[in-house]
Amino acid sequence: MTDINNATREVFGNIAPWMRVVFFIMIAASIAVLVWQVVSRAWLWQKGRQGGFERDWRVWVQRLAVYAAAQKRVHKKTLGALLHLLLFSGFVVLTIGTTLLAIADDGPYYFHHGWYYLIYELTMDIFGVAFIVGCLLAMYRRAFKRKPSLGHNRSDWWLLGVLLSLGITGFAVEALRLHYTQVQPGLARWSIVGWLIEVNLLRGIDVATAQTMHLAAWWGHAILVAVFFATIPVDRFLHVITGPLNIAGRPERPMGTLVPLNMEEVEQTGRTGVHRLADFNRQQLLSLDSCMECGRCEDACPATATGKPLSPKAVVIDLRNLMSSDGEDVHRTIRDETLWACTMCQACVQECPVLIGHVDLISDMRRDLIGQGKLSGPPAKALQQIASQSNPYGRSNAERLAWAEGLEVPTAESNPSFEYLLWVGCAASFDPRAQKVARATVQLLKNAGVNFAVLGKEETCTGDPARRIGDEFLFQQRAHTNVETLTRRNVKKIVTPCPHCYNTLKNEYPQFGGQYEVQHHSTLLAELVEVGRLSNSGSNGDPITLHDPCYLARVNGEVDATRAVVGATNDPQYREMPRCGKKTFCCGAGGGRMWFEEAPSQRVSVLRSQEALATGARTLATACPFCLNMMTDGMAGTQGGENVKVLDIAEVLLSRQTRASR
Ligand code: SF4
Ligand code: SF4
Repeated sequence: MTDINNATREVFGNIAPWMRVVFFIMIAASIAVLVWQVVSRAWLWQKGRQGGFERDWRVWVQRLAVYAAAQKRVHKKTLGALLHLLLFSGFVVLTIGTTLLAIADDGPYYFHHGWYYLIYELTMDIFGVAFIVGCLLAMYRRAFKRKPSLGHNRSDWWLLGVLLSLGITGFAVEALRLHYTQVQPGLARWSIVGWLIEVNLLRGIDVATAQTMHLAAWWGHAILVAVFFATIPVDRFLHVITGPLNIAGRPERPMGTLVPLNMEEVEQTGRTGVHRLADFNRQQLLSLDSCMECGRCEDACPATATGKPLSPKAVVIDLRNLMSSDGEDVHRTIRDETLWACTMCQACVQECPVLIGHVDLISDMRRDLIGQGKLSGPPAKALQQIASQSNPYGRSNAERLAWAEGLEVPTAESNPSFEYLLWVGCAASFDPRAQKVARATVQLLKNAGVNFAVLGKEETCTGDPARRIGDEFLFQQRAHTNVETLTRRNVKKIVTPCPHCYNTLKNEYPQFGGQYEVQHHSTLLAELVEVGRLSNSGSNGDPITLHDPCYLARVNGEVDATRAVVGATNDPQYREMPRCGKKTFCCGAGGGRMWFEEAPSQRVSVLRSQEALATGARTLATACPFCLNMMTDGMAGTQGGENVKVLDIAEVLLSRQTRASR
């Protein structure tokens, strides 16, 4: 009869005492190599500026649970995601299991017996199989599905070979132990893989031979464990240590918020951004070492997709290599064109499983380029015009209300008891196409009886383009001026049709004392439709799709209101693009790219227009004046795009009021 209560096994069965001593010395030496290599990397991190780490331990715990333990960013229906989950879960469970075994063997209370032992054996076997399958899938992918963005180092094969051999020798040790100890079948079956090997392959082998083979397999396994520890800090596998550190340590702040430059510090140091590697803070340097080179950021990057000289992954790896070579000048490694190519769309940041902040890295280096006066042409002119005229279009601020001619738009002066301040934004104030969006928004607010006002010539650029391009001085100057105006006008609620103004007013002005309830016009319009103050029932029957602006959907998570305004749920002609909602694709205008010259073949808007056209839509709705312009140009440059109307959601909704009232 099977005696479950006494079911157990010797931890070092068949291993002579002197061998155990050698084993422990070997493992201690390999762990010492591991610790030494990690400490050597930490020495490089501490060359950065102090700080930059999240301090709230509750954030650490929450992030480690979500991004490290549950692997939130890895979940996808792809081979890469599956194999990573198998490898990760196998690695974690086998490590915990081995640690528990060591505690049971060396601790005061031996608990490794009975039902605990049997369930332990089964669990370890299941996750051991997961680990081996993960290794085999990883090898298959490297051999036959060579995704370029993944990168292929020789050390990857070495590491996968070590991991696979660890799994195989582990099962060999188990099967040989079951055979030479002649465990009862009722107990042996709990070590399912070892038992199957024993039953099918080892039955003809005598006990003495099995013991000798077990010893050989055990040593092979033990040496591989030692090699594994010493191998952890090699190349991308270092992320098993640095990944969780970066996940926990990355500072918590809204995605669309850049860190303000401390102007007193700038005066003392003369440093406006990152010129030398040591100008990054310590968390940023640690983050470089946490990259697992998975290529997810590169796959999502609109600059890479359109052949520009930027890959967010390459930026991280180049900086990491610079750190390893004790180099200093970041601009020797990262070209200026690379930095200017970024649209700051945050797609890379959204994808990165270890929470690397590519946009912060790029923005810090851009700030240095601006400090060195290295920007020229139209974007430099846009900055000059923000400084001299308070808008990037170079128009007199006295003309800010020209778009409103004939609409009798209330101002903060004429209607001081307004509920909402309509922040029009520079594009909708000065750009002829975007002005129509301002007019449509005002007409809708009036139709719905909303008590609103505009600032008129008191409104100036929020400074968003200046901040994204890297001119932090100019941004802070704008922010201080605008916060002063908003305070003087006693503004509590702001609504704006521009996602960039929305993001800056909502997420960045609190850095300068400006706290407001900020809404994008999509959410207010959706609310007005919801309560019946605006109608949304007159679709013209044309197929329609929606381009989600990055700074509305990805950065601020707003995806439902835009759909409610265009009637996505009740319009059978509504079509969704493959990259939509929070996983939208950039139009190419962000990060100041609106003002950069681009070869037609490198236009992100053309790529996006092709995606929109593939849905069969005849109307492309969006909710950002910059997206509106880029997508209009994109459609003009795309075959078949001339038949597609590009409209703001306010224009779509206004056309439905007109139809409904007929
Ligand atoms: S922010 Fe966007 S454009 Fe810039 S590197 Fe990341 S994905 Fe590429
Ligand atoms: S930066 Fe992040 S997303 Fe990009 S390759 Fe490294 S780990 Fe992957």
